[in-house]
Amino acid sequence: MKLIPQLALIIVLALSPWGCAVNPVTGKSELSLISENQELAIGREQYVPTQQIQGGQYSVDPELTRYVNTVGQRLAAVSDRALPYEFVVLNNSIPNAWALPGGKIAITRGLLLELNNEAELAAVVAHEIVHAAARHGAQTINRNILMQGVLLAATLSTSDSEYSNYIMGAATLGTRLVTQKYGRSAELEADYYGMQYMARAGYNPRAAVALQKTFVRLSEDRKTNWLEGLFASHPPSEERVNRNLRTVAELTIDGEYAEDRFQRNLAYLRSKQPAYKSFEDARKNIANNEYQLAHASLDQAIRLEPKEAQFYALNGDLYRAQKKYLEAQQQYNKAMQRDAGWYQIYLGRGLNYVRQNRYNLAKADLEKSNSLVPTAIAMNELGKIALDSGRRSQAKEYFQAASTAKGEVGQEATLAFMKLDIAENPGRYVASQLFLNEDNGVQIQLTNRSPFNLGEVTIVLVRDRGGSSIQIIRSLAPSRRILLNTGVKVSAAQELSEYSVFIKSVAVL
Ligand SMILES: [Zn+2]
Repeated sequence: MKLIPQLALIIVLALSPWGCAVNPVTGKSELSLISENQELAIGREQYVPTQQIQGGQYSVDPELTRYVNTVGQRLAAVSDRALPYEFVVLNNSIPNAWALPGGKIAITRGLLLELNNEAELAAVVAHEIVHAAARHGAQTINRNILMQGVLLAATLSTSDSEYSNYIMGAATLGTRLVTQKYGRSAELEADYYGMQYMARAGYNPRAAVALQKTFVRLSEDRKTNWLEGLFASHPPSEERVNRNLRTVAELTIDGEYAEDRFQRNLAYLRSKQPAYKSFEDARKNIANNEYQLAHASLDQAIRLEPKEAQFYALNGDLYRAQKKYLEAQQQYNKAMQRDAGWYQIYLGRGLNYVRQNRYNLAKADLEKSNSLVPTAIAMNELGKIALDSGRRSQAKEYFQAASTAKGEVGQEATLAFMKLDIAENPGRYVASQLFLNEDNGVQIQLTNRSPFNLGEVTIVLVRDRGGSSIQIIRSLAPSRRILLNTGVKVSAAQELSEYSVFIKSVAVL
């Protein structure tokens, strides 16, 4: 399982020695609890799960990603810090952009559609480059370690799927990082140096002012989904507008806006907007349990954009919810043909295979889903499949991992884990203690701490100098405590210390 190195990393972070480092962008000396290697490791390990949790990559139009990457690399080349920069477009309608430590940057298709020219795109991307180059994410981690030793928990509001509550802890580190608010000074720094990079790379930095003005206006409308996206981590303000105006005065403003080139590259995505609108309608329909409307909305979305895997995947989920497993199967397969890179398609199809009792296929899909983003749902199902084919210890590991989840899945996995564990470690679940009664008779007190009705509880009373006796209890209800007479008598109270008791085996009824 991939969880261990990520957990180890968090622990290493918490134990790192205090240090000082010169900020590569500002040149200022600052406290640093995490090394550059740790920064790079966080970016490397968290980039994929963080993308996956927010819809995965937008793969219908790979030219668009290439374009965004070209703009990004043009800015990265003039930045103050060489990092393994990467830029991707996320398949998500909520306007947002983020940077993980180590230069791993993403922008949603939702935000791209709100921009007017390439210089505005450059403003967004350069701002994120500064967050990575100036170690703002690392500072967020510093702050959290100083405050409480761990990262603040944040809800995964950027992923509104039924799976989001079941994503395993370590895979959410990146999401927690990119949904936390940067400090005011980090935002001003990212604006200031971002505009420097724009000018250096030949973009007109005035675009950053125009964009910030748009953001301020949008942030005044409290209903927009910007608030759960970009504005949650990068709050806009009049102060930022004014500072940007001052920064522009220091810079050359003969750089390009490249509006035509931008619009050309955005043309395809823009033409498909009605399809994504229908898709969002379908999600609302599903949330309201209006399945027929949801099918109609999805049919419309697919008619307008037959290349989008997410549409088929949601259709698959919809059929599965109605127990129409064959129809669901077809939809998942169509989704997979179009994009074999998003965990939710594997998870949905894997769960659908489980319903059809096709366990080998289910296992392959669920494992693949876990390799992209580990979820308690997949762990729990993999546990059941392992148990079904007699791999008890593997089943136990899966159930134990899934047992950390909240809600039904966590409860189910906890029970399944205990059921396997109690057979191997009955003493963990049935407490036993020796007492003497008034006649110096040895008694055993048994307490069933498990949630199960137990039968065939085999108890062994051992005497140090040799000899033992066995007693069997036919049934012991959950939480039940009983006192057994062993028939053994001692001549003095201290003689009891020569005896010990253990639970040899139990059966779950
Ligand atoms: Zn920012």
